[in-house]
Amino acid sequence: MNKPLPEPAAGMSVITLGTAAGPAIRGPHPGMATAVVVDGSFYLVDFGLGITRAANSAGLRGENLRACFITHLHSDHVAELPGYFLWNWGRPVSGITTPVTVFGPGTDPQGIPGENGGTGAMVEHVLEAYSYDINIRVHDEGRPDLRQLVLAADIELPAGVADTAHGNHTPAMEPFLVYEDELVRVSAILVEHPPVFPAFAFRIESRYGSVVISGDTTECANMVTLATGADLLIHEAVNLDYFAALDMAPEFLNHQRISHTTAPGVGRVAAQAGVPHVVLSHLAGLASDDEWSAGVRTEFGGRITVAAPGNRFEIAGVPVLAAR
Ligand SMILES: [Zn+2]
Repeated sequence: MNKPLPEPAAGMSVITLGTAAGPAIRGPHPGMATAVVVDGSFYLVDFGLGITRAANSAGLRGENLRACFITHLHSDHVAELPGYFLWNWGRPVSGITTPVTVFGPGTDPQGIPGENGGTGAMVEHVLEAYSYDINIRVHDEGRPDLRQLVLAADIELPAGVADTAHGNHTPAMEPFLVYEDELVRVSAILVEHPPVFPAFAFRIESRYGSVVISGDTTECANMVTLATGADLLIHEAVNLDYFAALDMAPEFLNHQRISHTTAPGVGRVAAQAGVPHVVLSHLAGLASDDEWSAGVRTEFGGRITVAAPGNRFEIAGVPVLAAR
């Protein structure tokens, strides 16, 4: 196993573990996952395909994982949750030995008929699906019971928001607190990713500064609300021209248009929020880094980075893009 990379004794950084939208293999990059490291402890946002190896390569070990956050339940954001925990379980792999909670969307009672659960149900079913492996390793290898280590919590919407959100997924609202410990405060806001509801963006704040992670969303005012004053904005982007040229079905093109943000749209959100630095991650459709950046630049005068897997952004002080 690779040795963990040395962590600074103090500080906050953000690692774009995976940057690809999906569920599709359009290039070599892992799927959507972001880590936020604070004083050597870390937090995960989303579990896209490839997160397990990407996190390991970044020097992250489960033993330092404090909490996890899921923006929404599209598979390209949660597909490798089972693998991540099964590969970061117990002391033999420097994995988790104390409970870690996965916070994510609950179910939508007014959603598409047939959907059957939120984050809590998904995690419960994952642990049940791997019960053979979990049982045998508890008895054979003396590992702690994974079912007592991986906990889940459906994020509850603030009073009043849930009632008004049907038909309008992104009512004007203030960010609300999801999680807090001695290192971070994590707040959420509803973003516009129809028909998915709820879909969240998260803001993680520490004594060093703050990062906002958009999840999947079209250009929306709640993103500006959440990102205002942040030191770093990680935002999704879509290249509609790429999909249009592929002659996709109208329904598919419409989904991209109403559920994702164009590069100029990211620029408008970043400019309105006044962030100094925007990082594009969750890139839907192909374009060169220069093409992505040029689209953002039409609307935004600050720093623009097109994320690659493993990029690390220091929050304290001047953001620095470290080499892989
Ligand atoms: Zn999505």
